[in-house]
Amino acid sequence: MTANTIRRIGVFTSGGDSPGMNAAIRAAVRTATKNGLGVMGIRFGYQGMIDDDFVEMYHESVSNILQRGGTILKSARSDDFRTEAGRKKAVENLRKHKIDAVVAIGGDGTFRGATVLHDEFGYPVVGVPGTIDNDLFGTDETIGYDTALNTAMEAIDKIRDTADAHDRLFLIEVMGREAGFIALETGIASGAELILLPEAVKKIEYIRNTLNDVFKVQRRSSIVIVAEGDETGGALTLADKLRDDFGKYDMRVSILGHLQRGGSPTSHDRVLASRLGSAAVQALLDGHRSVMVGVINYKTTLTPMHKTWSKKKSIDFELLEMAKVIR
Ligand code: ATP
Repeated sequence: MTANTIRRIGVFTSGGDSPGMNAAIRAAVRTATKNGLGVMGIRFGYQGMIDDDFVEMYHESVSNILQRGGTILKSARSDDFRTEAGRKKAVENLRKHKIDAVVAIGGDGTFRGATVLHDEFGYPVVGVPGTIDNDLFGTDETIGYDTALNTAMEAIDKIRDTADAHDRLFLIEVMGREAGFIALETGIASGAELILLPEAVKKIEYIRNTLNDVFKVQRRSSIVIVAEGDETGGALTLADKLRDDFGKYDMRVSILGHLQRGGSPTSHDRVLASRLGSAAVQALLDGHRSVMVGVINYKTTLTPMHKTWSKKKSIDFELLEMAKVIR
């Protein structure tokens, strides 16, 4: 298939939703229609592709969604798409609707699926990184990450007020799956006394000693940020291990959970999503076939799709060291 045979594209969101997905859909739809392409929205990600849940989209279909969290195209995780029969059905439906290429908005799982779609069937796919976890290689930031950071930070600020009033020790668990990006940056932004991440595993003795040091300096509230994927097993498990030594500080656990996924995207995420949604369609028009659009050092970049999930993006260890100095 050559670049000029693309007449109609499919757009979908998949995996965990993230704030800014709607802004990315809007940008992709409008860039496509401005360039004379037809657009089909595919609802519920790969599952909708299999279930034939398609809807035609126009310029007006994406009016007034820029500021909304979630995704108007809905999202899903699909076990059927992991099977050959499921993928065959999905491609039959794509062909039935005369879709020549797809824009996939999601995380690493979504891009594994997109890689298979391209490699097995030759379908042109361009990925747009939409996940709060920021764990994709090939972009400095993913759509939704900045909003999630701000949401978590605001929640932790509120917890700090009550922790301070009672001189309490709070263990706060944040999202991020196997990655510690959210934990690291919210930890710094909220002045946490200790940040625990899967990328920098700490023994329980280290955690105890650090907290003892903190409470020795002055009796005061303390906040420990625990990434959900941390080796300690999460905030509740860690609390059990610390109860004997630190129970006297009226230790409490707070798991921020799904509130980190929702809400209106920040201006930063709206701009990022607009830029990447538009760049994805441009990449297809330019003849790219299995890539993800991202931003590296403020420049829009393309990364081969398979590298986005097979290579690991590292956290900034210098930032983690700095956090220890200023806690
Ligand atoms: P997030 O990181 O926010 O959770 P994600 O895109 O990583 O988002 P997943 O649930 O991991 O979310 O993946 C989304 C969907 O992609 C899966 O439900 C599945 O349908 C498809 N998928 C994932 N891995 C594969 C694979 N190896 N082969 C085919 N399809 C896959």
